[in-house]
Amino acid sequence: MSADRNSWEWPFRCTNCGQPYPTKGFPYCCEKCGGLFDYKDQVSYDPVQPSRPGRRSIERYRRSFPLPANVDFVSLGEGDTPLLSHRISSRQVFFKCEHLNPTGSFKDRGTAVLVSALIAAGIEEAVEDSSGNAGASLAAYAARAGIKARIYVPESASGPKSLQISAYGAQVVRIPGPRSASAEAVHREAEGGVVYASHAYLPHGIAGIATLAFEIAEQLKGYPGTVIAPVGHGTLLLGLHRGFQALQSAGEIDRMPVLVGVQASACAPLWGAFSDGVSGLDRISEGVTVAEGVRIIQPLRGDAVLQAIAESGGKMIAVDEEKILKGRDTLARRGLYVEPTSALVICALEEVLETCPDPIVLILTGSGFKTLGV
Ligand SMILES: [Zn+2]
Repeated sequence: MSADRNSWEWPFRCTNCGQPYPTKGFPYCCEKCGGLFDYKDQVSYDPVQPSRPGRRSIERYRRSFPLPANVDFVSLGEGDTPLLSHRISSRQVFFKCEHLNPTGSFKDRGTAVLVSALIAAGIEEAVEDSSGNAGASLAAYAARAGIKARIYVPESASGPKSLQISAYGAQVVRIPGPRSASAEAVHREAEGGVVYASHAYLPHGIAGIATLAFEIAEQLKGYPGTVIAPVGHGTLLLGLHRGFQALQSAGEIDRMPVLVGVQASACAPLWGAFSDGVSGLDRISEGVTVAEGVRIIQPLRGDAVLQAIAESGGKMIAVDEEKILKGRDTLARRGLYVEPTSALVICALEEVLETCPDPIVLILTGSGFKTLGV
């Protein structure tokens, strides 16, 4: 590491005990108390230059990222995704096409920043657990950066995603049982000293996800009235919230949009907590859903997500299983081929169309090519 990198301090602290993120090592949680790390201060909005044809990357926002100035940004051409206008029930609705990112999901925004941070810290090997999108994204960016990646996936994870991870050269370890079993396996690896490059635990990628808000505001030339997004751990919704906060602080938008989070009824802990408080969590199970990207029974940043939604005047919505594939087909008939998890937003739209302010933006999170045959 250069002298500059040695003097670098990450802008994170433990949300539980206040401990700063260490300058040595790359822990996924606080080594003193096990708490989650998060930003000490707000993310900032300060783009280097406007988007230019042929220069697709979120690197133009790198002043917002927690990275030393002398580190090369690891990019595969993520971001600058289209924002498509559609008429639905006589309302103008926008689809933010995150399924068109390099590995086919919004995760690439956070991964580009996280893997750049791994490079800054001199990390050469990392593990991750994922049902597919985060794993595929990490595998691709690790390949780009020359980092060895090992990805734990549930045995039930859909085939194309595991194939995609393998194709990038990462090792895929299949774990029987629910997604939480893969998490336990990867935690054992982390205890052994391997860097756990978790998109859910680590805060490094949040500012990468925040670029989604930056682009939406730039594309709309103003703030959206409402943003609807699927919620698993909540990194997407939280990144959006942080991004819009940054835009508001920079004077780019007048107010925050209403944020609507969507889960599958089969596994909807945050919907349960939002609807019924702590008692709502008691009747939530880790049920099977075609929306496998949001099958998270214990969302790590659940409290922060619920707070962001409440502050915005938004809500959580749960969608029944039989509606999800119909929603996927509805989107496909509009030319938008996305995975079932992404269809949650169109299902939720019916519930908020009459009450939420315009313009409404729906985040299409992942490509349909990842779930061929479903
Ligand atoms: Zn702590």
